[in-house]
Amino acid sequence: MEADRRESRFRVAVAPGELWLVQDLLNTAGIRKPRENVPDLLDAPDTAARWLSRHGIGGDSPGVSALQRLRDTVRQALIARDHDSGAAPARPVEAAPRMRLDADGTVRFVPGAAAIPALVERVLIAIYDAQRDGTWRRLKVCRNPQCLVAFWDASRNTSGAWHDVRTCGNAENLRRSRARRAAGGHRAEGAAPLEQPGQPVQDE
Ligand SMILES: [Zn+2]
Repeated sequence: MEADRRESRFRVAVAPGELWLVQDLLNTAGIRKPRENVPDLLDAPDTAARWLSRHGIGGDSPGVSALQRLRDTVRQALIARDHDSGAAPARPVEAAPRMRLDADGTVRFVPGAAAIPALVERVLIAIYDAQRDGTWRRLKVCRNPQCLVAFWDASRNTSGAWHDVRTCGNAENLRRSRARRAAGGHRAEGAAPLEQPGQPVQDE
């Protein structure tokens, strides 16, 4: 069933169409948090084989490192786009899918036959199409630098920053308020006057 195949490793909303493939590739990455150690699916032969077969590539599949490199480049690009982290730019990745002119006049990229290079081509074509139709900006990686789970941001104004506000969002708010307190620049809690809507500031 389509819905089952598209379920996410981290229980996040999944991107539509082929963009889901990009999201699924991003989410093969491991997570190293203090109390949560999620392995990298492309690091071990058995988990890599399972992931690849899910995307139609069976048997012995050399070249997983090309996929890892692609994944890490996409991740870095999304971090550079959305996070204020000053991430180093990633090395470009190249692929050479064929172009095809269809009978109706539409020109599209066509990935090659099934193997890892074809999967790389599918991922690049999906990104290309998403950048043209405007959906690319909704594929994000969680702003928690220890998490980086890829999620589909369905918010109306594309303002989503966390794969899960309750875990990563709250943890970050706590970290920031602790950092502010440690810096000594805090006001006593409750002492600051709240801004009241509808009461214009008197500026004389
Ligand atoms: Zn997260």
